[in-house]
Amino acid sequence: MINVDRKKCIGCGECVDACVFGSISLKNNYPSISEDCRLCGACVRICQYNAITIKQEKKRKITNWKGILIFGEQRDGVILDVVYELLGKGRKLADILNEPLLCVILGKSVKGVNKLTFYGADEIHNFDHDNLESFNCEIYSEIISNFVKNIRPSIFLIGATSIGRELGPRIAAKLRTGLTADCTGLEINENGLLLQTRPAYGGNIMASIICPHTRPQMATVRPKVMKKLEKNEREGNIFNHEVNSDFLKSRIKILKEVKYDNHQDIENAEIIVSGGMGLGRKEGFILMEELANELNGVIAASRAAIDAGWADPTIQVGMSGKVVRPQLYIACGISGAVQHRVGMETSDVIVAINKNERAPIFDITDFGIVADLYDVIPKFIQNLKKIKI
Ligand SMILES: Cc1cc2nc3c(=O)[nH]c(=O)nc-3n(C[C@H](O)[C@H](O)[C@H](O)COP(=O)(O)OP(=O)(O)OC[C@H]3O[C@@H](n4cnc5c(N)ncnc54)[C@H](O)[C@@H]3O)c2cc1C
Repeated sequence: MINVDRKKCIGCGECVDACVFGSISLKNNYPSISEDCRLCGACVRICQYNAITIKQEKKRKITNWKGILIFGEQRDGVILDVVYELLGKGRKLADILNEPLLCVILGKSVKGVNKLTFYGADEIHNFDHDNLESFNCEIYSEIISNFVKNIRPSIFLIGATSIGRELGPRIAAKLRTGLTADCTGLEINENGLLLQTRPAYGGNIMASIICPHTRPQMATVRPKVMKKLEKNEREGNIFNHEVNSDFLKSRIKILKEVKYDNHQDIENAEIIVSGGMGLGRKEGFILMEELANELNGVIAASRAAIDAGWADPTIQVGMSGKVVRPQLYIACGISGAVQHRVGMETSDVIVAINKNERAPIFDITDFGIVADLYDVIPKFIQNLKKIKI
């Protein structure tokens, strides 16, 4: 909370100049602070008259928060793969902390709820109701934040899907806790805190973030970054919860759901042929298609190739695109910038074709071919055709 003491203020306006966010203006000779204020304290430091003060919120108690909670996102009653991936990582973290792993599901007659224990969960908390069939951010966030207040997990993980990205910040705001978006790594540090790692400053550094003062420690994680556990018939408990009718009130009315026809599902593809600026022209993607068809795979692209208008933005791999984890990723004419690598480096086998032997992509490849892709790929396609005959 920021306050101006009018008895001390002389209206010099130094605070106005000091505010880099432009949140302070002088009204009737007194500073008026707008909602844009980030509480950075620059005005407090500049004021020689001690007229501006920031009152710190009382530190909240963070004891008695235990367990790791995973949001069990579903679409059309089917639990998404990212939930299994988060359960895999959550299980490892829960074992380190010696705390339980929980999963909360909202929906209507969601399939496979009881099988989530086979993938690591100790407890499944199921909210089943007609009104929860379709995602409604107001209703979902109300139910989940109240549930979290009751069970008090120390960590809460959500898939960084379109739904997770909308839901996570809303829940974090309701719980007045921090949230790290789009994490690529999660570990427990020596103090038992969640180390949340994500690319920062355009992918040029990896930032490890902690949330020491509030609970739960919340993070969203992109699909395909974590690995799901092998199915294992382990025991767990399922709790079916009544839905409080007060929480079902919403200003949002869903009129119709329109499904996006994602014909190029690169996130779930097992073989990806990916093209970059080395293709030199849009038509290069015809060659990519040809190779992908021979391999029963799909095509993808670097951001630079997409920015050049050579491919559809839905098939962009990387930091500002999608994370993929195929069995085989063939990078053709892609330099291997870090922003591209974070989207594909966990692929099982990586092959790169690049003219430049010093291209950074070769640092992470299993097989590297230093050559002109227009020499190599047609021969590759020819040989694949021969094998098929
Ligand atoms: C905030 C931010 C987010 C970003 N997000 C993404 C992202 O999500 N995904 C992404 O891909 N990028 C992203 N980028 C851009 C990224 O930094 C790179 O600019 C981009 O990945 C480069 O694409 P490229 O490898 O296709 O092109 P280039 O870097 O131009 O590389 C082309 C490569 O092709 C090789 N080559 C040229 N001709 C041939 C040939 N005939 N045969 C074989 N090899 C050849 C060259 O040696 C070179 O290595 C982001 C950048 C920023 C700042």
